[in-house]
Amino acid sequence: MSCTNRKIDHLRRQIPAFACVPGCHDCCGPVTASSEEMARLPVRSAAEHEAALARWDCVHLGPQGCRVYDQRPLICRLFGTTASLPCPRGRGPEQATAPALERQVHRLIASTRQLLV
Ligand code: SF4
Ligand code: SF4
Repeated sequence: MSCTNRKIDHLRRQIPAFACVPGCHDCCGPVTASSEEMARLPVRSAAEHEAALARWDCVHLGPQGCRVYDQRPLICRLFGTTASLPCPRGRGPEQATAPALERQVHRLIASTRQLLV
């Protein structure tokens, strides 16, 4: 496993989870991820990507919500857990992501080639 993959797993484990409003996907939209995260996601066709972008949606968003929840990118996991990425529906974990951890996530994002999911 590459160093980046190990970092991704390490960060994923530390970002606190929380329960969303059932059925809500208000914060989903076009997002980017590293190639290491992309490799964990199912491949979607060019037509699916085009259709999702035309709706300004994420290609992995389905009628029941995120279809790749267990492998969703770091930015999706961070959303709602920090003051800088607040959930518009007022949800979030009891304990926010620690600022140092948030910085590590942003450093990893900045240091990897980001691709449109
Ligand atoms: S984080 Fe908030 S806006 Fe995003 S899906 Fe969950 S409840 Fe909805
Ligand atoms: S990967 Fe899942 S959680 Fe992230 S934007 Fe797409 S549908 Fe939403």
